[in-house]
Amino acid sequence: MQITSGLPASFNPEEYDMIVVGAGYAGSVCARRVAEGTGFRVAVLERRDHIAGNAYDYVNEDGILVHKYGPHIYHTFSERVNEFLSRFTKWTDYQHKVLANIHGTLMPVPFNHKSLKLAFGEERGEELYRKLVDTFGADKKVPIMELRKKNDPDLQEVADYVYENVFLYYTMKQWGQTPDEIDPSVTGRVPVFIGDDDRYFPQAPYQGMPAEGYTALFEHMLDHDLIDVFVNVDARDIFDIDETNVSVCGKVYGGEIVYTGPLDELFNLDLGALPYRTLDMVFETLDCDQFQPVGTVNYTTSEDYTRITEFKNMTGQVVPGKTTIMKEYSHAFEPGSDQTPYYAIIDPENRALYERYLERVQNLTNFHPVGRLAEYRYYDMDAVTESALDLSDEIISCHA
Ligand code: FAD
Ligand code: UDP
Repeated sequence: MQITSGLPASFNPEEYDMIVVGAGYAGSVCARRVAEGTGFRVAVLERRDHIAGNAYDYVNEDGILVHKYGPHIYHTFSERVNEFLSRFTKWTDYQHKVLANIHGTLMPVPFNHKSLKLAFGEERGEELYRKLVDTFGADKKVPIMELRKKNDPDLQEVADYVYENVFLYYTMKQWGQTPDEIDPSVTGRVPVFIGDDDRYFPQAPYQGMPAEGYTALFEHMLDHDLIDVFVNVDARDIFDIDETNVSVCGKVYGGEIVYTGPLDELFNLDLGALPYRTLDMVFETLDCDQFQPVGTVNYTTSEDYTRITEFKNMTGQVVPGKTTIMKEYSHAFEPGSDQTPYYAIIDPENRALYERYLERVQNLTNFHPVGRLAEYRYYDMDAVTESALDLSDEIISCHA
């Protein structure tokens, strides 16, 4: 497929029926689906120098495939999402496992049957496990904030241990707040698992890694006669938006616009900046075959970084004598800086601010915000894909 760097002088928005801002999951799924569903010509504008959004991967100078914006592991319960994405890649059967380093002992996270025995000893761990099974049932997921509400002393003992040793310090590092202070859906992403499935995404039927990597998946998705991709193009340089119109390159644009960037940026943050957390990712290549036993180790009681990922453990790539690891350091995102807004901070006040931005585009019937940034949501790749498929179906049905 051909990717153009910068906008050529000959670029004419009117030659396109749809303009997509952002070449991540949200934008690329819409581009492909709508091009196929309507016969529209689509221009995809991406301000980075590459496609694939935060899922971008590349082979580093040591020959190791790494994820530039943090470890990405595909997992979904949705047959529809899996069917769509599987058109553009084969998957490896990688099943993501995470260990928490709790005062030097490595225990499975989500905290499960095995973790209980490691934390409390064989006998007491088994007793507590029975109590959990009797209370919630086997193979059930229980968010820590739910478990903490139980009055039973045994369940309290488990809840206190897990809260203190798995969630408290890690959450402070990641969000600058305690688990009690943040939205419960966030810690609810990693519930206690009452069972033996020691995968990070227990029970998810579709899991794996794209066999040739994420960037290749996006190359295949965007490789279509009706789609043109332009990187190193910031849409804000050619967009002009108000409550009634969007102009592109100085003329009111009549086609569809799929926008996957942050909404506040589009209005120069004039109502205030939407708060985010960002990450500093520190990569290091070591002269050894393997650094740690699993893809990711979470440091839940020590260190300044939240977790270490070792890419070869996830991709299955064989590179003797070398391995690349990456540490994540979280801090507040500085609006207007060149930092990446990785995580929306979910709370009612921030949501209300987002809604005020959203109201301003509500009457623009051809302008469609979608994706983790544009919807200000804590979406995984599959949820973004689902949202983009829903939007695409709407656009297609409007033009049927
Ligand atoms: P993005 O990938 O952010 O794409 C938006 C694109 O729009 C960007 O490339 C941006 O440069 C571009 N853009 C924005 N504004 C403009 C503009 N004005 N002009 C031009 N281009 C613009 N999900 C999982 O399912 N599994 C995981 O293991 C996982 N791990 C993650 C780890 C980390 C550290 C993070 C931060 C996220 C993780 N995710 C994971 C979530 C996943 O990254 C997102 O769900 C997905 O990438 C969001 O896709 P998107 O298209 O909405 O946004
Ligand atoms: N979390 C934690 N300890 C862990 C794993 C997760 O405290 O070992 C909490 C933390 O608040 C984190 C949230 O659960 O931000 C969601 O974790 P997840 O691994 O889903 O985060 P992501 O991969 O999206 O960064």
